[in-house]
Amino acid sequence: MNTISKTKLSPAELQRKYHQNLVFNYAEYPTCDHWDYNFRSEDYKKSLVEWLKKNPNEKIFFYVHIPFCEQLCWFCTCSKFITKSYEPVKAYLPYLHKEIDMLFQLLNENDIKLNVGTVFFGGGSPTILNREDLKFLVNKLKQSFNWSNVEDFTVEIDPRRVDADRLLYNHRECGANRLSFGMQDFDENVQRRVNRIQPFEMFDKILTKEVRDAYETIAFDLLVGQPGQTKETMRKTCDQIIELKPTKVQTSLLAYKPWIAKAQIRMVEEGPLPDFMERKELLDVINEKLEKAGYLRVAFESYALPTDPMIEAKKQGKVHYGAAGTQRGGRVNFVGVGSSTKGNLGDEYYSQNAYSLDVYKKCIDKGIFPTHRGMKLSKDDKIRQHATQQLRTYWKIDYEDFKKRFGIDCKSYFKNEIESLSEMEKDGLVEIKENEIIVTKIGWDFAQFITNHFDVYDPPSKSYSERLATIEKAKQAQAKSIEYFKSL
Ligand code: SF4
Repeated sequence: MNTISKTKLSPAELQRKYHQNLVFNYAEYPTCDHWDYNFRSEDYKKSLVEWLKKNPNEKIFFYVHIPFCEQLCWFCTCSKFITKSYEPVKAYLPYLHKEIDMLFQLLNENDIKLNVGTVFFGGGSPTILNREDLKFLVNKLKQSFNWSNVEDFTVEIDPRRVDADRLLYNHRECGANRLSFGMQDFDENVQRRVNRIQPFEMFDKILTKEVRDAYETIAFDLLVGQPGQTKETMRKTCDQIIELKPTKVQTSLLAYKPWIAKAQIRMVEEGPLPDFMERKELLDVINEKLEKAGYLRVAFESYALPTDPMIEAKKQGKVHYGAAGTQRGGRVNFVGVGSSTKGNLGDEYYSQNAYSLDVYKKCIDKGIFPTHRGMKLSKDDKIRQHATQQLRTYWKIDYEDFKKRFGIDCKSYFKNEIESLSEMEKDGLVEIKENEIIVTKIGWDFAQFITNHFDVYDPPSKSYSERLATIEKAKQAQAKSIEYFKSL
């Protein structure tokens, strides 16, 4: 697969040629701005019952959202509320417990048992939960479904709020076996410019031998595109990552959206963020450093040590990319609870709870699910969703696979897409073969742009302003749905 570029363009020129101002990561396809804002509680219930009855053995990724943090990181676009007090957390938990009850009552009434293989506590920051509340929540889930099938249980960790003892408690008393840290960058200046101070020594101190023995996977998130990041700082950060030896590193690109995350403006007070070319150089440094240190690239933005279970899963073709990043499992069938939580049932349904805590609580009080948008996928959506997953994780579209799954002939079904890739083929980013489309190693870093050719909602031909208009339309639909919830 390591092909030589047919183009005479340098990597920098390729980046300039294919750069787009608004890029989708395709954790979902269709992307959520195209979901239906009239998809609400009854639709969600129907989708759950219908899909779970049809797929009783499918493994479920059970997600719990804790939308609180103690301090705002200026880059953050997550759904969260900043609080130094534990009161809002205390006030939220009974609603979360009630949503869990509502969910399992619905499933019990329909004789459905959830086959949960993964449990993931994310946020915000679930680290904010005190020991007793975390254990109580875990026990509630243990009473709700068969916990013995759970292979991975992650509690996202904010290293500034824990010590090694707390990590051991999460493992011994609650069963967590996977650690996920928002590491983001070790450079002092970068950390200062994003308002998140968490030096290398802090990680070194909490990742004791006992902690390492307790956790099978230790994952670091590394955010690319932060203010002050240079090739030099990134080299040093990578050296420190390698020294700490997490089993998995998940990179992501900073999304600069000050219209939804106002504090992001503070990141540019001292100068601009790295531009797209500089980001590419940072990604090259990460790639070179991690690969040299023995990490294998699992997907577009994910690296793992050969000992991490992700590597075996990749070999078996059982890795999937979704809202929680690259995860084990042929599919990530998301069932979630908590404000703003997304759901994803097979390739059939998407759903998402309302962001607003008031709306969330009001719905739960009224005994309805706080679903504020979702969609049922058409056959074409499913085909293209599979294409996006294959391209960004397995670097290919295998025509035989699509024929078996969907009964389609890729050559005619994707005739236009194949033609539209011809320029990328000339530049050596893809190879169009008799029975497959391959993303070349040079093309790996362009996976999002290549995938975009298979997106009929926001194809490459759609201009930047047309894409912004789609976002604006979704914002208006969201405002309307808030009106609906107010009227309840
Ligand atoms: S990055 Fe994490 S810890 Fe920081 S504000 Fe966002 S959710 Fe909270």
